[in-house]
Amino acid sequence: MSLLVTGSIGLDRVETPFGVREDAIGGSAIYFSYAASFFTPVRLVGVVGEDCPKTLLDVFHGRPVDTSGLEIRKGSKTFRWHGSYVQDMNAAQTLQTDLNVLAERPAAIPPAFLDSQYVFLANTHPVLQQQTLAMLKAPKLVVADTMNLWIQTERAELTKLLGKIHGLVLNDAEARMLTEKKNLISAARDVLELGPKFVVVKKGEHGSLLVTARDVFTLPAYPAEKVIDPTGAGDSFAGGMMGYLATQNSLSPATIKRALAFGTVVASYTIADFSLGALRNLTREQIDDRYQEFKTAMSF
Ligand code: AMP
Repeated sequence: MSLLVTGSIGLDRVETPFGVREDAIGGSAIYFSYAASFFTPVRLVGVVGEDCPKTLLDVFHGRPVDTSGLEIRKGSKTFRWHGSYVQDMNAAQTLQTDLNVLAERPAAIPPAFLDSQYVFLANTHPVLQQQTLAMLKAPKLVVADTMNLWIQTERAELTKLLGKIHGLVLNDAEARMLTEKKNLISAARDVLELGPKFVVVKKGEHGSLLVTARDVFTLPAYPAEKVIDPTGAGDSFAGGMMGYLATQNSLSPATIKRALAFGTVVASYTIADFSLGALRNLTREQIDDRYQEFKTAMSF
């Protein structure tokens, strides 16, 4: 089934206790696409400025990612993010965000992408997320991600978006910020009242939580010993999750739970190196092996 993603594409400056990377390839849609491409072909929609280095655009060489929805906009500048994990490997501290082209109109969706069935609105301005969604014909599953910046500055637009999607993926601090509830299950239930049918709360090294009207499911993180750079873990989690879902003709609770487990496994690889370093050396076979190992480790 066709999987479309739109979100940020940009250059990151990332600091962790293991070093600093300048102009690293990043952005929510980049991590998502790479992760999801281990499961299914991906249609990427996004926009960069004319200053974007060619290496960034070559990143999907050899992967089943259709980049025909990637616009290089003349006269605009590429999105940049500067984050640090030096204080806390479990939560990024944003030092600077230069929205640049993300503050403009969204990229046009190629006509061949308009029939996409599975859609992920990766983290970007909630107005762009809504505008992209409005262009699509009849998606079967629409899931979105967001972050503290948009909760703080664009709450009204984010609330509108929540009324139009099936699922929301966000991290624990964001769930608390959005709902002003400390308890994550209560917070997720408040989000359900705003529209989504399911909420996935990412808790970093503590795993993830799935909440629907009828179900609460909790999953630990893969016990990773090598954590070099957590950037993109959330987007890779979402990529693994949506990539798997797009291969299943089912949205049953059991299918969604397995999708969370695949997301967990892909994210455990992302964090083992800076930028896309670990994903670039990954195979589907390694993902499946680690999935089985994870499943065995959890049975008691
Ligand atoms: P995560 O999976 O949450 O670690 O996402 C990391 C990616 O999010 C980085 O590569 C950043 O480029 C991107 N990012 C950071 N801030 C924003 C923002 N305000 N909007 C969209 N993308 C962002």
